[in-house]
Amino acid sequence: MKKIRSLINRLNCYRNAYYNQNISLIPDELYDSLFDQLKNLEDTLGIIYPDSPTQTVGYDVISNLKKVKHNHLLLSLDKTTDFNEFYRRFNNKPFVIMDKLDGLTISLCYQNGQLLRGETRGNGEVGEDITHNVKTFSNVPLRIPFKGELIVDGEAIIDKDTFDEINSHMKDNPYKNQRNLVSGTVRQLDSKICASRNVKFYAWNLYKTAPTAEETNGERTVYGKSHYENLKFLNELGFTTCNYGLCYAFDSAELFAQRIREIDEKGGIPIDGLVGRFDDIQYGESLGMTGHHPKHSIAFKFYQERNETTFRRIEWTTSRTNTINPVAVFDPIEIDGTTVSRATLSNVSQIKKLALGYDDSILVIKANQIIPQITENLTRSGTVEIPACCPNCGARTEIRMDGISEFLYCTNRKCSGAMLDRLVNFCGREGMNIRGLSEERIKTLYKCGYISDFASIYDLGLYKSKIENMEGFGKSSVDKLLKAIEESKSSKFVNVLVAIGIPSVGKSSAKLIARKCSNSPTKFLAMVMGNFDWSKLQDFGESTSKKINRYVQDNYDEIKAVFDNLVYEESEDETQDIFGGATFCITGKLVSYKNRNELVEDIERHGGKIVSGVTSKTNYLICNDKEEQTSKIKNAKKFGTKIISEEEYKEMIALK
Ligand SMILES: [Zn+2]
Repeated sequence: MKKIRSLINRLNCYRNAYYNQNISLIPDELYDSLFDQLKNLEDTLGIIYPDSPTQTVGYDVISNLKKVKHNHLLLSLDKTTDFNEFYRRFNNKPFVIMDKLDGLTISLCYQNGQLLRGETRGNGEVGEDITHNVKTFSNVPLRIPFKGELIVDGEAIIDKDTFDEINSHMKDNPYKNQRNLVSGTVRQLDSKICASRNVKFYAWNLYKTAPTAEETNGERTVYGKSHYENLKFLNELGFTTCNYGLCYAFDSAELFAQRIREIDEKGGIPIDGLVGRFDDIQYGESLGMTGHHPKHSIAFKFYQERNETTFRRIEWTTSRTNTINPVAVFDPIEIDGTTVSRATLSNVSQIKKLALGYDDSILVIKANQIIPQITENLTRSGTVEIPACCPNCGARTEIRMDGISEFLYCTNRKCSGAMLDRLVNFCGREGMNIRGLSEERIKTLYKCGYISDFASIYDLGLYKSKIENMEGFGKSSVDKLLKAIEESKSSKFVNVLVAIGIPSVGKSSAKLIARKCSNSPTKFLAMVMGNFDWSKLQDFGESTSKKINRYVQDNYDEIKAVFDNLVYEESEDETQDIFGGATFCITGKLVSYKNRNELVEDIERHGGKIVSGVTSKTNYLICNDKEEQTSKIKNAKKFGTKIISEEEYKEMIALK
């Protein structure tokens, strides 16, 4: 195969000199003899590349890119930037390390030994037909010696030299990076453009082979079981694969990772990390999925992707607690494959710390690959002004300290922005769960004055005929809505506590409060008016305690009106409270509980509280494998948190 490539390269070089520069580098006889050698080799091996001088490739121009549904899902991988975590995923089983190429994922289909179709990844389920362009990739074999059906996934890339060369002709509008260039190139309608840009295909997965009867009986039965063998098989068929190697131990994995990086850097191949995959394909598949990622593989990213953009302005919105929260708006940029243009800022202190100013150059990352965050301001002009008036109601604002940070507040207790947010929270699923009262509808009804506070929701029937005539409502939908409102009147006190929107009080805190006041609204109000010290409850700090009292006192009339309007459902048996608010964290696989949620509910039913990470205040870490080296277990050992197995947990419920 190497011989084929070298003959093609040599002959093309001679041809180029002859046709474009009118120079004969070798005698005609020698050229003909090399040409014959190549032709023979192609016939024997059954591999033909598009740039072979034995082929005359015509270019195709198509009118549009057809959408195609893939016959298998092209899923994205779970990612980490921690090499230890990456390695641990494989649990001492053999795994294959590969390049994580930063190009465009495509999938090729062969039948009868011929390239049939090329598709882009698209959204993983549906992509675009780019067959006409794939036929011009110099290293994609048009013909292969395998005659059954074969599907191979890989990455289309353009190397650094070609990228620089093409960009040098695009002075006004250069491509940002190699990935953008390749994505623009393989989606061209005229395949001549693609052919001129030297796109290459690097295979990283043999998805499917359906060998012919003859092939099944023949020698080629090695593939299908081992990912490593599959990649080797692809090489034999004439495909270029990404760099790959089989690893068993941490040291070899680390060394191999190092080597891959060097090779790719030298070759100008864009990689942004590594991919690991269990070598045993069946075992890998048997692990299933987490969320949208297959568990057979994990990606290790060399660095967190961060991009530069221009900060434009801040949008301020007043929340239910009257805090006015800033959101930064900047020119759209792509990070980790999606376009972002907004990032939440935590508070006024953060704006000051970043010295944010209009048209500043900022760096943005996606924390945990999800939440956009401004990490740095390169120009720090500091021209952003903190508004003196609330953007929602126009009332005077005030900066207050909460902990060590400054927050902006609207001083108007009846602020429309705060009220709207409170109403949305009130009707939400964790709160009164009123179906049919979406944020959009709440806004509309609030503007018309039909809803003004919590209690007014229960009087909505007064405006029935008027609302029926409003756009987007209609008779039957209003009937449904009023019924849902009526039904929500019968509710658990815990949900009502969440619904009224006390700052820092979510569902699990609300449960503790409800338990403390024996699920009695009257008792709760009395405790608040007597400035009860809620910090006696597990995990309630002094500041939370003050916030609870202040919020309820400030909104006493409104909250009281709601409380009086409702019928309370029986709550769970109080005798079940055996943990008294002790905190639990869960890690690792569960054995006897069906899933994590089931265990969470069980703990909460018994009066425990769930936390997401282990701190010095965490009482128990539930974990079946105490020897694992996860950060939660390490922290538990550090802080002296008791580590218990599911079985031990069950004994606790039985004993108490
Ligand atoms: Zn306001």
